[in-house]
Amino acid sequence: MKNLLVILLALILFACGPTSESIELFDGNSLQGWRMDVPAMDAAPDTTKPFLVRDGKLVSLGNPQGHLITDKSYENYRLEVRYRFAGEPGNCGVLVHASTPRSLYEMFPKSLEVQMMHKNAGDFWCIVEDIKVPEMEKRRGPRAEWGIVEGKKRRILNLTDGSEKPLGEWNDMVIECFEDKIKVWLNGDLVNEGYDCTVRSGQIAVQAEGSEVEFEKIVLTPITELTENPDEASYYTQADYPDVPKADVHVHVRTDRTTFAEKAKADQFKLVNIVVDGASSWQGIEDQFEYVMLQQKAFPEQYKVITSFSVEGFHEAGWLEKTQTWLDQCFDRGAIGIKVWKNIGMVLQDTDGSNVMLDDSRFDDIFTKLEEGNKLVVGHLGEPLNCWLPLEEMTTNNDRSYFKNNPQYHMHLHPELPSYEDQMRARNNRLDKHPELEFMGAHMASIEWSVDSLAAWFDRYPKATVDLAARMGQVFWQTQQHREKVRDFFIKYQDRLLYATDMGDNGSSDPADLTKRLEETWKRDWQYFVSGEEMESDLVNGSFQGIKLPRAVVDKIYFQNAQRVFGF
Ligand SMILES: [Zn+2]
Repeated sequence: MKNLLVILLALILFACGPTSESIELFDGNSLQGWRMDVPAMDAAPDTTKPFLVRDGKLVSLGNPQGHLITDKSYENYRLEVRYRFAGEPGNCGVLVHASTPRSLYEMFPKSLEVQMMHKNAGDFWCIVEDIKVPEMEKRRGPRAEWGIVEGKKRRILNLTDGSEKPLGEWNDMVIECFEDKIKVWLNGDLVNEGYDCTVRSGQIAVQAEGSEVEFEKIVLTPITELTENPDEASYYTQADYPDVPKADVHVHVRTDRTTFAEKAKADQFKLVNIVVDGASSWQGIEDQFEYVMLQQKAFPEQYKVITSFSVEGFHEAGWLEKTQTWLDQCFDRGAIGIKVWKNIGMVLQDTDGSNVMLDDSRFDDIFTKLEEGNKLVVGHLGEPLNCWLPLEEMTTNNDRSYFKNNPQYHMHLHPELPSYEDQMRARNNRLDKHPELEFMGAHMASIEWSVDSLAAWFDRYPKATVDLAARMGQVFWQTQQHREKVRDFFIKYQDRLLYATDMGDNGSSDPADLTKRLEETWKRDWQYFVSGEEMESDLVNGSFQGIKLPRAVVDKIYFQNAQRVFGF
C-alpha cells in the first residue's frame, strides 16, 4: 500500500512539475531508441561499433565515423546535452532536424549541425539544410560562396570564445529548436542563434567524427516558446527559495511549542522528527516520543516520525522483548522507522568492558524484523573522521570546537577505544546481514570527509541513502579543495542524497531567535546548492563557491528523495 501511494504521488508530481514532459533520449544504460548509421560497417558489419554505453555514459569512440540517430523525429524542443572529451580533444557534434541519411560526402544526414569540436563548440554547419544568422557575411564568408553542399561555405561561426570548460570537465550544451529558429547555449553563454531555418523538425543525431566523447545526459523537453535565458528553466535562483517544496529529513523537535513547524511550513519544508537514545535511558526515549507525536498531531502534513529504542538494560533479561514491544507500539502509532545512534559502538560496554558494536549478534532479531517489515533504519554510527584526528588537523571549525570542549568524545585522545574503521566495519557488517534493509546513513553515513569514499560506499550498498545533516561544513571544505568533483558527485548520486540539518528545538530558546537560525541555515545551504556564488560560512575558514546544481537535481535532493524514502 505504501509503495502504491509513493508511485501515485510520484505520478501526480511528475504530471505537474516543471520537467513534466522531459524525455531522456539516452536512458543511462542502453542505446534503446537510437540506431547507428556507419558507412564503414556496410562492408564490414563486425567492425567495432563506434557507439556504446560505458559506466552509465553514452560514448562516441569517434571511429569508424558515422552517426547515432534517434528512431523518432521531434519539433519545438529544448535539448540538454552534457558532454566531455574523455581523452584527446577533437571533433564531434549534435545534429538537429536530421532526415535523409548520407546526403553529404556519403556520410552526413541532411540536418543542421551544432558543432562540438574543441574550441569551436556552438558553430552551425549547414548539411543540405540552411539557416540565417545576424552578420552573415562576417560569420560565414562572402555571400557568393555560401551553400549547403560539398565545397560551399557551410560553416557559421559561433558568437563567443572561451565558453568551453577545460578539457576533461563536463560541458552543458542547450539547444532550443522552435519553429524555424535555433538557439544554442554552452555552459550558460549564448553561443549561436539562427532563423529562417529550411527545416522545422527531424531526428536528432550524435556524431562519431574522430574523437572519443562521453555524453552523460541527452534530455529533450517540449517547449512552446524560445527561452530568453536557459538558466531560468534549468536552474533555481535564491529568490525561488520560499516557493520550492523542500524537506529537512533530520530534526529534533522535543517541545510542545510549534515555532519550528510554523517556520518550516512558511518556508515549504517538510520535516522528519527523530528520537535519539542520547541519554541511554528508556525514560528519555518515551518522553521524546510523546513530544514528536504531539508535534505530528499539531502539524500532520509537516512531520514524519522516526522512533528509537534504548540500550538501557541491554544486559538484563527481557531487554530484547521490551525493545520489540516498544518498537511495535511506535509503528502502530505512526512511526515509519527507527534511529540507531553512536552510543552503540562508542559508549555501550559489554560485561568484559569492551564496546558493543552494531554487528553484535544480540541485535540480529531487531534488524531482521525491521528488514522484514520494511521499516527504515536511520543510522548514526561512529563520528566524523575529524573525531580521530588531532584538533589542528580537523577540517571544520564546528568539529574543532566541539571536540575541544568535549575531550571525552575526542577519540584521538582514546586510542584504546574502537577506531573509525572499526565503527564503519561494524555498520557495514550489519548491512551485509540485511541486504533488503531500508537504510539511511545519518550525517553522510560518517563518510563526510571524502565524496570518493562515499561514492564507493553507495556503489557497495545500492539501496542505501544518506542525509546531509550537520555535515555541510565538510561539504563546504571539500568544495574548497575540488569544487567540480563535489558537483559531479551530487549530480551522479542525486537519487541517494537527502537534504537535512540536524536542527532542533527543546523549547528553551527565544522563538524569534529560533526562527532566525532556521531561516539563516536553510537559506545558506540553498544558496550553496542553487547558485555559483562565492560564499563564506563560520563552519570553515576561507571562502568557497556554490555548486549551482541543475533544478532537477535540486528537486531530488531537497524533496523527491524524501518523498520516496519517507512517503511524504
Ligand atoms: Zn541528530
